[in-house]
Amino acid sequence: MTLDDHAEELASDLGVDTQEVRRKLEKMAEYNVPMSEAKQSVRREYGSGGSGTEVPTRDVSEISTDDSNVGVTVRVLSVGKRSIQYSGEREVIFEGELADETGLISYTAWEDFGLEPGETVTLGNAGVREWEGDPELNLGEATDVERVDEPLEVSYEVGGEAALAELEPGDRGVVVEGRILECESKTIDGRDGKTEILSGVIGDETARLPLTDWKPRPQIAAGESVRIENAYVREFRGAPSVNVSEFSTVTPTEQPVAVAESAPRYSIQAAVAGGGIFDVELVGSVVGVRDGSGLIERCPECGRVVQNDQCRSHGAVEAEDDLRVKAILDDGTGTVTVILDEERTAEVYGGGIETAREHARDAMDREVVAEQIREELVGRAFRVRGSLSVDEFGANLDATTFEAVDEDPATRATRLLQEAQT
Ligand SMILES: [Zn+2]
Repeated sequence: MTLDDHAEELASDLGVDTQEVRRKLEKMAEYNVPMSEAKQSVRREYGSGGSGTEVPTRDVSEISTDDSNVGVTVRVLSVGKRSIQYSGEREVIFEGELADETGLISYTAWEDFGLEPGETVTLGNAGVREWEGDPELNLGEATDVERVDEPLEVSYEVGGEAALAELEPGDRGVVVEGRILECESKTIDGRDGKTEILSGVIGDETARLPLTDWKPRPQIAAGESVRIENAYVREFRGAPSVNVSEFSTVTPTEQPVAVAESAPRYSIQAAVAGGGIFDVELVGSVVGVRDGSGLIERCPECGRVVQNDQCRSHGAVEAEDDLRVKAILDDGTGTVTVILDEERTAEVYGGGIETAREHARDAMDREVVAEQIREELVGRAFRVRGSLSVDEFGANLDATTFEAVDEDPATRATRLLQEAQT
């Protein structure tokens, strides 16, 4: 059955307007609500199909995914505004977090109830749906929002303010203050055709995170300290990234925001378990250098590493030389592959591409470059800083800093033991 069929059937069943029902179903389909659940929800909205019982009043901690509709009194913690798209139309929705004395719950409002962070409201007939295993409130046409004068005391921060290290993918309506450390303009193929966006890095005293501004504005520029209101957080290569939308407000801060000089240090095990960290420091020994290191060749079209001038996507190409290291770093708790780019490889190899080419020519073997790098690195301890990503093939760290550490072996053994236990 198509969505139209479902809508027609349901509308005639309920004795209401088909287009109206269709619109509701479509909106929920946009949010991947299963059709059966969506139809139940519409039935409830029109006061049919339920068991005829009253909507139960609940504390936040009592709300479960078994509930279909609840009444609840909550403090509004955050209000994020976002536009979604369905059937070629833009629709503005609101989302964020609500809390009472017993707990916290996220919500999506399909209409503008004018919710403000800090105010306390009684929600009559809020829908409950499951979102990644947890209950979430859905506020729609059937929901009554009643302002309560006496604010609820809650143990959560109102307003969505967060330090960068506290952000998690899925957070909405957040407020952050940070310094823009890097920023560049990019053209992407978005849903509205070619779109200009800003891509960069934001930092505060707790962390550095990637940042995307989907509606480029002049306040977001390298070196600027800014307060961003109503941002949302997405996952980028396993780590949180700050997203600035058309509804976000960006203002300069009065004082420059301090940014931590060093990256947080993790054991490899803990770092990998987190699924990805944008800026992290690891210390360990290089126990091996993988194939595909040294003087390599790349496709000029796509940048992939090629062999015998054959690219998997572009066939026969005139490959370009490059330098790279894929080193296996081990700290006793786990291993990651540390990737050094051309510049950092040249440092550990002791020469650039030209030197490597001569070296290979003299030996009549390109492998001599990787061999020399192996001899230089294996068995030594290094402090590495960079961006860690984890996928099904393992953990990779794109290094921005790679330096040898001279550590007393006994100190090192103790440290590794301690890190292994945390
Ligand atoms: Zn290619």
